[in-house]
Amino acid sequence: MKYLGAHVSAAGGPDQAVLRAVEIGADAFALFTKNQRQWHAKPLTDEAIDAFHAACREHGFGPGQILPHDSYLINLGHPDAAGLEKSRAAFLDEFQRCEQLGLTLLNFHPGSHLKKISESECLTRIADSINHVLSETRGVTAVIENTAGQGTNLGWRFEHLAEIIDQVDDRSRVGVCIDTCHAFAAGYDLRTPEACTATLDEFDAVVGFEYLRGMHLNDAKSEFASRVDRHHSLGQGNIGLDAFTTLMRDPRIDDIPMVLETIEPAIWAEEIAWLRAQQLDAA
Ligand SMILES: [Zn+2]
Ligand SMILES: [Zn+2]
Repeated sequence: MKYLGAHVSAAGGPDQAVLRAVEIGADAFALFTKNQRQWHAKPLTDEAIDAFHAACREHGFGPGQILPHDSYLINLGHPDAAGLEKSRAAFLDEFQRCEQLGLTLLNFHPGSHLKKISESECLTRIADSINHVLSETRGVTAVIENTAGQGTNLGWRFEHLAEIIDQVDDRSRVGVCIDTCHAFAAGYDLRTPEACTATLDEFDAVVGFEYLRGMHLNDAKSEFASRVDRHHSLGQGNIGLDAFTTLMRDPRIDDIPMVLETIEPAIWAEEIAWLRAQQLDAA
């Protein structure tokens, strides 16, 4: 089963994200559980939590179909002690919000070395941050997203993801989310069915599909191997539609949220319907 959706707005409360997902024909979605550009947020109220649970129940969304994303401000590999502490505290708050909402996945970008520490030291800090938050919470899996490798962001090589996972104590609660635009911008070709399958094979060899907990389906405005993160609507960018057809037919990718972060919310319903129709068993 391929669960398909988009990163929808949670304005008005997390229950509103559920309704926005329903409107576009989604059976998966991503959301921010707080403002993604601010450090602090008011705690979730009991009313907001209850409304979210009721909406999920009514519309048939289980936690395996929902991929919350953390704040963009968090850097789990921060080179400075103060910056690292601030990020870890915010990350813990994000995990606790997921716990309150009954969500089991939290998607985040690994972190940046800011040219102050080595790559391997930064990857170790990221793993330590994950270990810290996992020891303080229950039931939520840390889902590391591959990045485009813009600036000093790590996580653009599959090897970075593997190196982080290797240092996580509880491997049952760590996973990855592959963003197609980020992979392409990082130098993993997806433009033909053969290239796409070869990239997935490489992912399997380096990280392993058993860790794949979600995907972000985005075409790329950025050029191949440019290390620039710019999303585009499916079929309108430099990746092209073949990649997405291939992904929809790959039996190794199943039962995980596959979420659009494409740039035209007005056509998300159309993009989701098109993706569904690519499946070999689509009626
Ligand atoms: Zn993404
Ligand atoms: Zn991106």
